[in-house]
Amino acid sequence: MSKTAVVTGAARGIGQAIAKRLGQDGFGVIATDIDADEVAATAAALRHEGLDVTGHVLDVRDRAAVAALFSRLGTIGVVVNNAGIAAELLGIRELSIADFRRLFAVNVAGLFIVAQEAVARMSAGGRVVNIASRGYLGGAGASHYVASKAAVVGLTRAMAVELRWQGITVNAVAPGMVDTRMLGGFSAQMRRTLESREPSGAAADPAAIAESVAFLASPGAAFVNGQVLLTDGGKSVGIPPL
Ligand code: NAD
Repeated sequence: MSKTAVVTGAARGIGQAIAKRLGQDGFGVIATDIDADEVAATAAALRHEGLDVTGHVLDVRDRAAVAALFSRLGTIGVVVNNAGIAAELLGIRELSIADFRRLFAVNVAGLFIVAQEAVARMSAGGRVVNIASRGYLGGAGASHYVASKAAVVGLTRAMAVELRWQGITVNAVAPGMVDTRMLGGFSAQMRRTLESREPSGAAADPAAIAESVAFLASPGAAFVNGQVLLTDGGKSVGIPPL
């Protein structure tokens, strides 16, 4: 299996933690992000730690740029589709089709573009890991986000069935609340309330999510395929007793 791993949205947050973790596993990591300055700083910092990480500016919505990057890379071992955007809380009555399309363009179509270009250059042993969200199970105030992450799960399962004949696995990691800039839209009060509903009482460290990704990207996960690994401390299993 090729030791080249591509991570999208790797400039910060969960993607940055994944780039670091895969680098620690001996991958040559191509850390990509739409934010040029931040991805360059992340790659430099990880190289400073002795990891083989190269930064690359990439908007996952840009098919030509994605194809150009992958054609330069040759064989890919792992792709982690992490780039994603959240949105302001809007009820189903307030949501516009523009809000809906903007989110789907990155979270679903962008993921599809990168996955398609990546699997064209994967051989047996290849690994696709998609970052969904516990939110795919449902939730109020962000039906476009919920729908986009449910689509990520659907795409994961469909790709897993098609690609298993080639020895490529496709799985998803679905985090609960994670301590990244994505939570920046919440007021301090709202954030405290949301964190109090997490089993641990706090948002997770991105490094904890990267551990699950590293497992699904490893040769040892060869028999895990088409699965959604909920990394939410168990919140999705049920609410605590009164
Ligand atoms: P973040 O906002 O800190 O990082 C997202 C990264 O994606 C940023 O570096 C951003 O520049 C990049 N990005 C945005 N649009 C892009 C595009 N068009 N092309 C390429 N890169 C782009 O958020 P995060 O929390 O690290 O989120 C990472 C993933 O985890 C997302 O898919 C998100 O939906 C998912 N997630 C986050 C949480 C959470 O609580 N933070 C929970 C569940 C799932």
